[in-house]
Amino acid sequence: MAHTTLMMIKPDAVENGHIGGILEKVTAAGFQIKALKLTQLSKNDVERFYEVHQERPFFGELVAFMSRGPIVAAVLEKENAVSDFRTLIGATNPAEAAEGTLRKLYATSTGENAVHGSDSDENAEIEAAFHFAGRERF
Ligand code: GDP
Repeated sequence: MAHTTLMMIKPDAVENGHIGGILEKVTAAGFQIKALKLTQLSKNDVERFYEVHQERPFFGELVAFMSRGPIVAAVLEKENAVSDFRTLIGATNPAEAAEGTLRKLYATSTGENAVHGSDSDENAEIEAAFHFAGRERF
């Protein structure tokens, strides 16, 4: 059965002109795009999206970073979408990310790490509903 995951191309990668390069690698890896938009998160949006991290010392930096410019949000479909996409994006810290992963190619630091991918099927659905209305999903 095909599963879905929620991707965000983060503000650093959008600023650096990597939307096209990332979407090319995502589709070449066998993911189908089921929803897609360029949008910008408010500070309040980021605080809600990353609520689980609110006690972490980097939370303020994360909120400032993720709200500072446009992002691309997408719902991606593939068998084992969540785990296969996390493999494609690589480790949180790009210095530890495997060769060829999106974070190795496009990220600059642990904070500014180019791409988000959901960490479970349940969160993928919650995150997709956060970004997309039903009529924006195909
Ligand atoms: P992910 O699942 O690989 O995205 O990593 P986490 O769920 O642990 O963290 C969520 C996001 O918070 C990361 O992708 C980073 O953008 C940010 N983050 C994590 N650790 C740090 C940190 O030490 N400093 C800063 N500034 N941001 C961090």
